[in-house]
Amino acid sequence: MPAPESSTSRRPIIAIAGLAIESSSFSPARTPASAFLQRRGAEVFEGYAFLAPGRPLREAATWLPALTGKALPGGILSAATFDELADEIVERLRDMPPLDGLYFDIHGAMSVDGIDDPEAELLRRIRAVIGPDTLVSASMDLHGNVSASLVESADLLTTDRTAPHVDTAQTKERAVQNLVDLLGAGGPRPVKAWIPVPVLLPGEKTSTRLEPAAGLYGLVAEIEQRPGILDAGLWVGYAWADEPRNRAAVVVTGPDREAVASAAEELAGAFWSARERFEFVAPTDTYHGALDAALRSADRPFFISDSGDNPTAGGAGDVTWGLRELLARPEFVSPSGPVVLYASVPAPAAVDAAVAAGLGAPVTVTVGAEVDDRHAGPVELSGVVHSIRQGDADARTEVVVRTGSVFVILTAERKPYHYEHDFTDLGLDPRSADIVIVKIGYLEPELFDMARGWILALTPGGVDQHIVRLGHNRIERPMYPFDPGMPDPDLGARLFE
Ligand SMILES: [Zn+2]
Repeated sequence: MPAPESSTSRRPIIAIAGLAIESSSFSPARTPASAFLQRRGAEVFEGYAFLAPGRPLREAATWLPALTGKALPGGILSAATFDELADEIVERLRDMPPLDGLYFDIHGAMSVDGIDDPEAELLRRIRAVIGPDTLVSASMDLHGNVSASLVESADLLTTDRTAPHVDTAQTKERAVQNLVDLLGAGGPRPVKAWIPVPVLLPGEKTSTRLEPAAGLYGLVAEIEQRPGILDAGLWVGYAWADEPRNRAAVVVTGPDREAVASAAEELAGAFWSARERFEFVAPTDTYHGALDAALRSADRPFFISDSGDNPTAGGAGDVTWGLRELLARPEFVSPSGPVVLYASVPAPAAVDAAVAAGLGAPVTVTVGAEVDDRHAGPVELSGVVHSIRQGDADARTEVVVRTGSVFVILTAERKPYHYEHDFTDLGLDPRSADIVIVKIGYLEPELFDMARGWILALTPGGVDQHIVRLGHNRIERPMYPFDPGMPDPDLGARLFE
């Protein structure tokens, strides 16, 4: 209950800051500061409906928003980019009056060239100006990583409980509510129980729509209701970066050290026991195996996830391996072959050339592999300009080039294709197509509902789902599934109090 307004009550002063991105260190792509949606001062409130004017949480504190940055998944940041953003956050916090609290809005899978555990490093720099007494509450993505340093320097940590993430707004609100409640209660800091779990899984094996993740996240919610516990979190971790922190983790917080420790151990044990039951969310195959199956099948449309270059997991997006292999197949050379939609390849020069040629014109363009050319070089594409669309928020300009029976979507900038209108806006009808190939992992709901057949193809790229072949060197070993016969680990709670 908030304290009644009186001459003696004072609203707590809480700052807001953070950087949120998931960045693959297995992709040669780099993320510039301009890739972040940066909000400063009052703009920061636009990111949080629960802090709109008049909402209880907005009224519960004096809010001092500093800077928040959120980017699409991508490549790593240079140290200079990280410093630029971190320095501004620190400067803005330095100019503020003494803070009671900080809401730290992060993802937890940012990778920075030469800086390990960047979110903990950011908080270390923040602590240097806000001091040790300010209570810090962090909200994270369950694909983020939780190191001992991060747990030590934050007071509260919470994370999403769904994947695909449909509870992100609730997660952030819970982080803020817990912070406000804790400041209002004025009691001691909560005890934190942290347990790293030596399991590293791709996101496409950990959908919370399916077991065992559904049951594990049900246990998280149940644990949170127990006496003496404030919050419980289970992080799957991020498989496409290579630091000692990349692995699953459990954090349980609350006032009762026995309760948080035993709950954390129960959750970590349950996750460890379930490790071999995580399966891909769809049937998987090689790319050619998936194409063969799609051609044999009567199910239309048949979707294939070209998952290794999924831009919403951190892929560069311009890997051409999937397109090259597709165009090499004899089945699609004739315009009367099975209709294939291919989404997509960023290829700005090819897009310009197609726009200049105009609708219906024949073109020969060179596409892709400008950022990630490790698996295939640029592909020469000869065909006819089927459509041109300007002004997309992500892609800026999109063109479709038809070659044989394949319609290839080219973009000026990286864009995820998640909705039916992403296709129909380009004069493509995915429902009447034979095969729809999308750089994606699990199908987003609209595509999932449309698909009559679906195979997740294990293709190469910066977010290769076959994580054991990526070549991790710095993760802690042994780790499941890299060391499948490893002994049971120590899953005792490490307490921070
Ligand atoms: Zn995530």
